[in-house]
Amino acid sequence: MQPDQEQSIHEELESITHFAQKSLCVANTLGVANELAPDDAGSTSKSFPHAAWEACANAGIQGWTTPTTYGGQGYSTSDTCKRLAALGLGCDDNGLLFALGTQMWGIQKAILRFGSDSQKEKYVRGLSSGEMIGGHAINEPDSGSDALNLSCTAKQTSNGYVLNGLKTYITLAPVARFSLVYASTNKEHGRWGISAFLVDATTTGYNAKPADAMMGLNSAPVGSIVLDNCEVPKTALLGKEGLGASIFNYLQLWERSLLLAPQLGTMKRQLNNCIHFAKTHVRNGVPISSHQSISHKIANMAIKLNTCQALQDNAVNILDADEQSGYHASMLKIQINEAFEQNSRDAIAIFGALGYSANEEHERNLRDAIGSSIYGGTNDMQRVLIASHLGL
Ligand SMILES: Cc1cc2nc3c(=O)[nH]c(=O)nc-3n(C[C@H](O)[C@H](O)[C@H](O)COP(=O)(O)OP(=O)(O)OC[C@H]3O[C@@H](n4cnc5c(N)ncnc54)[C@H](O)[C@@H]3O)c2cc1C
Repeated sequence: MQPDQEQSIHEELESITHFAQKSLCVANTLGVANELAPDDAGSTSKSFPHAAWEACANAGIQGWTTPTTYGGQGYSTSDTCKRLAALGLGCDDNGLLFALGTQMWGIQKAILRFGSDSQKEKYVRGLSSGEMIGGHAINEPDSGSDALNLSCTAKQTSNGYVLNGLKTYITLAPVARFSLVYASTNKEHGRWGISAFLVDATTTGYNAKPADAMMGLNSAPVGSIVLDNCEVPKTALLGKEGLGASIFNYLQLWERSLLLAPQLGTMKRQLNNCIHFAKTHVRNGVPISSHQSISHKIANMAIKLNTCQALQDNAVNILDADEQSGYHASMLKIQINEAFEQNSRDAIAIFGALGYSANEEHERNLRDAIGSSIYGGTNDMQRVLIASHLGL
């Protein structure tokens, strides 16, 4: 991407952020702020920013990676990645960015790769336009890191399938119009007996409810889905029976490679803010940047950010070349979330009490960063995969 293109992306993103903020001001004036509350720094209550989501859809963000045939922008992976980083630089609502990424990489990619024409027409077009919101539901109370060890079942009937089971901690479940649900169609075949279904939230026997308040990412609502004799037609099956594990593995590659891309922009903003603060905050007659304890912290923040950027570019090049590399994706995911967590701690230290204040973004960034060491597979599990790739 050329510098002038990057400049135009920044301008585009600035206008989106302004739009979202303007919506919020209007909402405050009208007394409906609760409906449009952004990621609330001081609280752990969840509130989905519908207006900001709509603003993003109007700006085409949900469709960045969707081909133009299905109403998207058709950007390359590399361009989308840069745009996501720019979005992270301009928008400080990490929950909103996480929710957007979950949908883009966790669902749209699956339907584009494995879906029928009518599934693509219905869901991908709906998701890209912002008309639909989708959840990606694999996690269960007794699976977690052992992700493909599912209890949820899908029994075939003459008309379709009947799903039973419980999915937990599913991002966007409370507001989703449908979810991509994994269930076992043949227990004897283990992971190769898992199938994936596109289940509309209005289906009888599908009940989504919010989870208890989480530590961070407050504007990305997380919830559970109870499937109680939930009957879906044959057309709900994504791909073929038994393809669930392959679909899941495919999505994990995309999620781990791109879900954290906005954090590169957030870390850049963090770095800029810390440099500015350190140079202007005076103690004992000197700016605190004159102390090595501060300037070296900032230098370390820059090293981490640039290392992440190099790994991100590498992971995208590999994806663009259509190579499958879970090894690089796992390294990238660990590197970004550990860097973001450490840089957030350093930013808090540099800002002192102001950094600890819930009115500033620093403590919230730390809470949000911790979430990324769990979702999409914990850092322990990424290390298990990396070690296994190394023959250990
Ligand atoms: C904010 C958030 C959003 C999420 N969104 C979604 C979503 O949209 N869809 C979805 O399906 N799920 C989602 N999840 C669930 C997420 O995928 C799981 O939480 C994650 O896979 C870990 O599972 P667990 O919480 O059951 O932890 P556990 O599997 O119980 O792990 C507990 C601890 O043991 C360690 N551990 C477990 N097994 C091993 C092992 N073999 N080797 C080494 N260490 C191990 C783990 O690393 C962890 O430290 C989300 C979670 C969060 C926090």
